[in-house]
Amino acid sequence: MSIPGNIHAVQARIAAAARAAGRRPEEIRLVAVSKTVGIERVREAVAGGVTILGENYVQEAWGKIQTLGTTAVAWHFIGHLQTNKARQVVPHFDLIHSVDSLKLAQEVDRQAARCGKRQAVLVQVNTGREPSKSGVYREDALALLRAAARLEHLEVRGLMTLPPFFDAPEKARPFFRQLRELRDQYLQEIGPAGGAMELSMGMTGDFEAAIAEGATLVRIGTAIFGARP
Ligand SMILES: *Cc1c(COP(=O)(O)O)cnc(C)c1O
Repeated sequence: MSIPGNIHAVQARIAAAARAAGRRPEEIRLVAVSKTVGIERVREAVAGGVTILGENYVQEAWGKIQTLGTTAVAWHFIGHLQTNKARQVVPHFDLIHSVDSLKLAQEVDRQAARCGKRQAVLVQVNTGREPSKSGVYREDALALLRAAARLEHLEVRGLMTLPPFFDAPEKARPFFRQLRELRDQYLQEIGPAGGAMELSMGMTGDFEAAIAEGATLVRIGTAIFGARP
């Protein structure tokens, strides 16, 4: 299928999963993950209705942002972020999904101050406690949320997770649920004035399960662009 056709199909699946969970489809936003995808195909996705692009690698993203600009699409940084790369990421991205230490939060805050912006961020949680994955463990998530929320140039918008890989997506549900419970705990703590909190969870293989557990941002690459090399 064409890229616009794939986007249409993914959006229909998102809407169906939302309705099945008793949610409104508008509560869920699609982040099209364009890592390794060439600029012409990314352009097709934007023409096909994508409004958020997710990128993992600073250098690669840079070139695309320069070519496509920041008016038609929002750019989300979803990859592992090293502290010494924050300087290159902060000026160009609307949302960073992968803040996983106080040291990184402080550096993002510092770079945001330098750019005269407030940087929206999510705290990444390693719900599966996998050594190969980034993210704080669940018992440290609330402390990091609180500390990040105190930084003047950060806007804490929620949580992100990348659960362990399973062949059956239903098996990922407890990890998605864990993220939702952390979010709800934090919301209870900060009260209604804190506003809504995003849950960035769900990829090509498991986004319907993530939506059933409350995802508000789904990050989808393969179902839109095909398999990566
Ligand atoms: C690559 C990537 C995705 C997209 O994965 P697909 O399985 O291709 O949909 C989502 N989130 C993160 C953090 C990624 O690195």
